[in-house]
Amino acid sequence: MKIINKTTWDSKDIREFANKVLKKEAHQLDTLVIKYQQGMVAGRGSYSRRWISLSFPNWKWEKIGSDRINGIKQPFQVIENDKLKAIAKTLRHEILHNRGIHHKDMDSARIRKADYSYIGDMVIRRKQIKDNTKIDLKQKRYEHSKLMLKHKQTQLKRLQNSIKKWQRKVKYEYQ
Ligand SMILES: [Zn+2]
Repeated sequence: MKIINKTTWDSKDIREFANKVLKKEAHQLDTLVIKYQQGMVAGRGSYSRRWISLSFPNWKWEKIGSDRINGIKQPFQVIENDKLKAIAKTLRHEILHNRGIHHKDMDSARIRKADYSYIGDMVIRRKQIKDNTKIDLKQKRYEHSKLMLKHKQTQLKRLQNSIKKWQRKVKYEYQ
């Protein structure tokens, strides 16, 4: 399943969560798009392809949890568990669209009332910005080193040319 994640929520957590719902519904997806939208959880499901798009509200659903990263307890933001159940409901609705079922043939009440306890205590975490910063710094250092190397190589070439010039002069003035 290809996940196109346009949000700042962790793609690995989204995949794990989606796989749980998909397994429960015995469905498979080729593409899952995750994006932001104002208001409520929304979704779109293709009638002909195994393609689903889910939209999450942007800011409302976060709280601070904590997790051990490299052995150190660090705070992180999560989409709360009960919100995941709302997302699971939407995902289930879109799965039915993937199976060619239109709204008029859909039992929406059954989807709402279904048991979503299989989701357990799963959460979707915010992407770890700390790691990205590390990558950015590494990339910056690499770019800087490349620039300095080029600069020093140019200096060396100039110096070599200068040495040659003075060698020629010395040779000429000696004769
Ligand atoms: Zn629908």
